[in-house]
This record gives sequence, C-alpha cells and structure tokens, in this order.
Amino acid sequence: MSSTALQSAKADYDALVARGITLDLTRGKPSAAQLDLAAPMLSMPGPDYRAADGSDARNYGNLRGLPELRAIFSGALDVPVEQLVAFNNSSLELMYDTLAQAMLSALPGARRRWADEPRVAFLAPVPGYDRHYTACEHLGIELVPVPLTDDGPDMDTVEQLVAGDPSIKGIWCVPKYSNPTGTVYSDETVRRLASMPTAAPDFRIMWDNAYAVHHLTETPAEIADVLALATEAGHPDRPFVFGSSSKITLAGSGVAFLGGSAANVDWWVARLVARNIGPDKLNHLRHARFLRDADGLAEHMRRHREIVAPKFAVVRQVLAEHFADTPGVTWTDPAGGYFVTLTVPDGLASEVVRLAKAAGIALTPAGATYPYGKDPRDAVIRLAPTFPVLAEVEQAMAGVAVCLRLALASAGLATR
Ligand code: PLP
Repeated sequence: MSSTALQSAKADYDALVARGITLDLTRGKPSAAQLDLAAPMLSMPGPDYRAADGSDARNYGNLRGLPELRAIFSGALDVPVEQLVAFNNSSLELMYDTLAQAMLSALPGARRRWADEPRVAFLAPVPGYDRHYTACEHLGIELVPVPLTDDGPDMDTVEQLVAGDPSIKGIWCVPKYSNPTGTVYSDETVRRLASMPTAAPDFRIMWDNAYAVHHLTETPAEIADVLALATEAGHPDRPFVFGSSSKITLAGSGVAFLGGSAANVDWWVARLVARNIGPDKLNHLRHARFLRDADGLAEHMRRHREIVAPKFAVVRQVLAEHFADTPGVTWTDPAGGYFVTLTVPDGLASEVVRLAKAAGIALTPAGATYPYGKDPRDAVIRLAPTFPVLAEVEQAMAGVAVCLRLALASAGLATR
C-alpha cells in the first residue's frame, strides 16, 4: 500500500466526517414505506368482530389462535393448521418462552427438566442472530458455535457434537435467508438435522423461519419440510417451528406463530394456561381479513420486495464498485431476508465499525453475530439496509466504502 493511497483514503475519510451525517444501518427493521403497506389493517376488523367460527374475537379464549389466520400461514411455515399456534406479537418471545418452559418442566421425551441438568448447551451456527444468543445467555444455556456453510450448519461438526454429548440440547436454525448471511439450508442439511442421532433424548431444533416469505427475487427459495422429515425419521418432537408477521404487516403489532408435533404443541399450551387466557384475536382477525389467504400473503410480500430489493441492489453495487478485486473482502448476495454479511480481512471489522461510527454511520457492533459478542477473526460486519430510505442507503454505503478503504490502507493492505 503506497503512502499516496493512504493519504487519499484519509482525505476521503476526513471529508466524510466533515459532512456530519447521521445514518443507521444497524437493525433489521421494516421502513416506514413498508409499514404503510399495512395501513388498511389499522381500521380493521371494524364493527364485525366475529371470527369465522362465529366466536367473538373481543373475548377471552381460543388459546391456539384463530384457525383462519393459522390456515394462511400454515403453508409458508410448513406446519399443519392443527399443529400451529397463532399467538401475540413476537416470535422471539415464543422462542424464549419455549426454552424457559423447558427449564421448568420436562419436554416430551425428556428425562427431566433442563433446570435439573448439570449443563445445558445449544449449538449456534455462526454468524447468526444475536437475540438467539441473548435468550440462551439469560437462561444459563451455554452456546457452542458451529460454522455456517453455504448449505446451512456444517453438518459433519453438528452430527459429531450432538452424537457424543447429551448436554447439547438443541440448535438454532434460521433456515431460509438466514440472519445475517442470507443462507438457504439445502435439502440434504435439513434431512441430516431431522434424522441425525443425538445423545440427548430431548434434543430440539429451534427452527426460526423468520424470513419464510421475504423474497428479494422472483424465484422464491424453497426449503425442505423439517417437521415432516423429522417425523419420517422417527423424531417427530425434534423441531419447534417459529415465525411471525413482524416483517409482513407491522413489526410491533404482528402475529407470531409456534408449531411442532402435536405432543410439543400440547406441552407448550399446557404451560400457557397458567399465565394467559387467550391471545389478541382482534389482531388475528385483522390479519386474516387483510391478508385473506396464502395468495394474498404472497402478493403483499411482492409489494415489500419492490421497496426493499433496490436497497439491496445499492449495497451490492457500492461494494462491487469499490472492492470487487480486493483480497479478503467478500459479501453475501442474499435472495431474501433482511441482511448482507460483509467479510473483511481478519482484525479489521471492529476498526471499520469504529471509523463509521465516528463519521456518523451506525453499524451493528462487530462481533454481534457471534455468541458472547466474540468473532474470533474480527472479520464479519452485518449490514441492514431495509430501514433507511434508498438515498440514505446510498449515502451510508458510500461512507462504509470510505471507512473500509481507510482501514485497509492503514493496515497496509491493497484495496484493489
Ligand atoms: N428471528 C430472526 C432470525 C430475526 O432476524 C428477527 C428480527 O430481526 C426475529 C426473529 C424477531 O421476530 P419477532 O418480531 O417475531 O419477535
């Protein structure tokens, strides 16, 4: 790296700082324009508050949620309607709750509740979703990182770990358009997860299908049906399936879903009765009327794509323009979901995030996509382009490019 290249990178960075911008590429939130797509829902259900079965949606009851709404999401989540619960506004809450309940009462197939186990550990494919890690940390569940490949978790490693260690009780999976890499699990990966021998009789797959219908292209990715495959392999209770409409309708007022075998769902509902007399069914009704059916859901997601896809295109363009030939700099090109993963040479991720912050561009903290915040290579940066308007994504990405060029130049690495 020549000193002129360093000087020019520094000059560009100083000019960026001098502009005094404030931009945010941190969290995977829908933009206001996306939320506006669900505006008609705000005046629903109106005076007709009867559900399809004639029940009064304003009242207590119906712990598993309205069947007409569950029917709309059953196909997208690959869970039969009768094994799918529609609940309140957050799937993360359902995931946390499932783990907390497993601590307090034995799961179907378990020898004892997890609180009585000497150690409870979960496999965490990395990079992954930080809030999965937080849930485990809060509950004293140890996280064991396993590499994520282009086909999903590295199954040779997973199979070896789960076969030999009964304290490994589960694995986190975001099987379609993973947060943050956009990875889509291959059929073979899903089959191996569903059928692998595990030392723990109560091993669970936390199948967080948060981006089931969030496609960025016209050819939606399909993943194998984990529940059917696990059932076929003799492990019907292995998967707990989760999803929500947070990034379909309203991120604070969506509907979250939990599904699984009849035994798993009955177990979960049996714990629920102690603390809830029924979910927000008016919200279920408003969702069912607004989305109408699976085709209505797909059409609604097409409208999201029109807003979101150009933002991902900008991320791609800026990175390709500046770093196409830069050794050690790569990025994912997701076909759906909410994130792009930018990989930089070892040791530089936190420096890029620091430089960006000083220039007014907030990026997800380096390391956040690894358990305990520790990316051993300090190489991964998560970019979340959905929330800002397109012009801001352009500005922010141009700024990120300046920061990365300076970090590379300062480390004596070539930018081309
Ligand atoms: N799961 C994943 C993989 C996510 O990326 C997110 C949000 O970013 C969530 C779950 C949160 O879902 P919910 O809003 O339903 O709690």
